[in-house]
Parts: sequence; C-alpha cells; structure tokens
Amino acid sequence: MLRDMPNEDSQPETLDETACWEAVIANDSTKDGQFYFGVMTTGVYCRPSCKARLPLRKNVRFYKSPEAAERDGLRPCKRCHPKNDNDAHAGLMHDICRYIDTHSDEKLDLKTLAAQAMMSESHFQKTFKTQIGVSPRAYQEALRLERVRGALQKGESISGAIYSAGYGSGSRVYEKIDGRLGMTPKAYREGGRGESISYATARTQLGPVMIAATDRGVCFLQFDDFEEDLAAQLKKEFPRATIAEMPNALRDQFDLWIAALNDYLSNDVVDLKLPLDIRGTAFQLKVWSYLQTIPSGELQSYKEVAEATGNPKSVRAVATACASNRIAIAIPCHRVIRGNGELAGYRWGLPRKRALIDLERNSRSARKPKPCDME
Ligand SMILES: [Zn+2]
Repeated sequence: MLRDMPNEDSQPETLDETACWEAVIANDSTKDGQFYFGVMTTGVYCRPSCKARLPLRKNVRFYKSPEAAERDGLRPCKRCHPKNDNDAHAGLMHDICRYIDTHSDEKLDLKTLAAQAMMSESHFQKTFKTQIGVSPRAYQEALRLERVRGALQKGESISGAIYSAGYGSGSRVYEKIDGRLGMTPKAYREGGRGESISYATARTQLGPVMIAATDRGVCFLQFDDFEEDLAAQLKKEFPRATIAEMPNALRDQFDLWIAALNDYLSNDVVDLKLPLDIRGTAFQLKVWSYLQTIPSGELQSYKEVAEATGNPKSVRAVATACASNRIAIAIPCHRVIRGNGELAGYRWGLPRKRALIDLERNSRSARKPKPCDME
C-alpha cells in the first residue's frame, strides 16, 4: 500500500494492486487519497471507500491520482466525489481524532500525529485544520478542557481536575488554554466573556435569518419566525460575549454571506460554504465536522453518524450534538434523520428541515447525468 498522500512530493513508483483491491473490497476510507480505482465498463473512477456496487476485478484499474484516471478518459464518480480532497481526507482525519481521544493522557506532538496519518507535518496540520475546523493542538486542548469540566462537575478539586485531564501543573492549564482559545479558561467557561461578536439579519425564503461572527468567522447562523427572537437566541448562546450590530466595515462581508445563503436556497449552488468559527466540546467538534462531509442531497441516520465518528453507542449524544448546532446549513445537521426515515427533530422546526432536504434532493437529481453512474 502507498505510504503517502496526494500533493506530496514522494509518490512511490507503482501501486500494490493486490493491496488496493483489498482496500476497495473493504471500503477502506483510510486509503482514500492514497489511490483511486477506475471501472472500465462504466467509465467512472472512485475513492477506495466508495459505497457504490463492487465492480468485477477484471474491469478495475488503479491510479495514483484523479488526473491519472482522467487521462484514461474516466469521469469522477458522482457518489464518492473522488476529486474532492476534502472528502478524501475526511475519514482519515476522523480516525486521527479518535486516536487523540484514546491517547489523551499522552503527549501527542505534531510529528507523532502526522506519522499516524502518514503525511508530512505541514500537510497534516493543514488537512486537519480544514477537516476538523481547529488545529490538532486546539482539538487536544478542547478535549482536555472538557475533561477538566467533567471532573469539576463531579466535584473534584481544581488542581485534581487539571491533573487528571493530563496537564502537568495548575498554572500551565491557564497559560496554555489562554493562548489557544484566545480567551482565558475562565472566560471560556463563562460563555465567551470578553469576546466580541457582531450580527446582522436578513430575510430569506425560510424566514428571517441572523448571521453572527467573531473576527475568526461565522459562529451563529439561525432562523426564526421573528427577528426579535433571533437576538435573544444569540444572547443565550454567548451569554457573556460583547454582542453588537455588525459595523459598516463588515457589512460587505455579511452581504456576501447572505448572497451565498440565498444562492444555496434558490438552488444555484449545492452547498453553503462559509468561513466558520466553531466552538464546542471535542465530541461536538467531531460530530459537526463529520456532518460537513455528508454530501448535499444525502441523508444519514444518527446511528450511522455515531458509528462513523467512532462512538457507536452514542446515538443519543449525536442527536444532542445535532440539536446544539449553532450554524444552520453550513453545518448540515438537517442531513441526519432517524434510521426509520422519520425526520426526528430540527432545531429550527421540521418544516425547515423538510424544505432543506427537498431542496437538496431536487438539486441533486437535477444535476445527476441520465445514465446513472455507479449507484
Ligand atoms: Zn464512487
């Protein structure tokens, strides 16, 4: 099997076809990005983890890159989007999260984690940040902070809680978290005290929307039937932050975000991509970043999400994380429903969830080429 990822300089000369084929049979997502397979009979190429029907071995060829497959006249599969690096790396980065979760008592530096991902340090750092929304270190800090909180809630002393979360000494936790989160641990615990958040509202076909942002990105995108309720909701999410109306200097930026939202709602684009400033527990970060990998037009069950994020028994916790999502659509919690097909709940009302699902389904079928690719 390949030891390296795309965009790296050191590509091996040849692919081990036997290992590649085994990975295809196993739907092995950890091999995504390491090679691609083409199906000569359908003219389509896929990632190893593609869930489409398994082709016959004799019809399959392996490629080191999407470009190589396309030079053979193959088209990217509509199901697994092999050209999309984001998708290709998502499974791997979630595996790394799981690795961090289960090794939280160890010191995991960038070198160790990059080696686990079989990537160079800089490539790994960038990929992790893109996929999970925070750097590997910030992720580890969030995880530890969560443990500190948990221990404090159980009544442990502050120094005991800090120690059992894997920190060396009491003062270091403050220094470190201070630097990582841009605020003191105290402010973080107290709901963003000292943070500045600005907001603006607009009208959409799903009703009034409010977008709020820090200087790092959008931290809140929510709908309601009345604008006044949106302001109250924002305040509730960030009770200690300094909240103000969006200054004129940021107004252009806000207009672009609203334009992107309206393009999405009127079906001009399939996905809503915004710069996000995501705050949450390590578990929430994991679930929310996974949701962003579910393609527009597809649905998964809470159970599937729980399994995919490495917590097969945490179906209810996944549902709670979906319900706590503060950034509608851009973190597509509407793509998760019950296993029996029921919509379950939606933070912004079931009619909105239904509307979004229908919208994405229509846009997907409108875009699908007639002779069904590999589905
Ligand atoms: Zn595919």
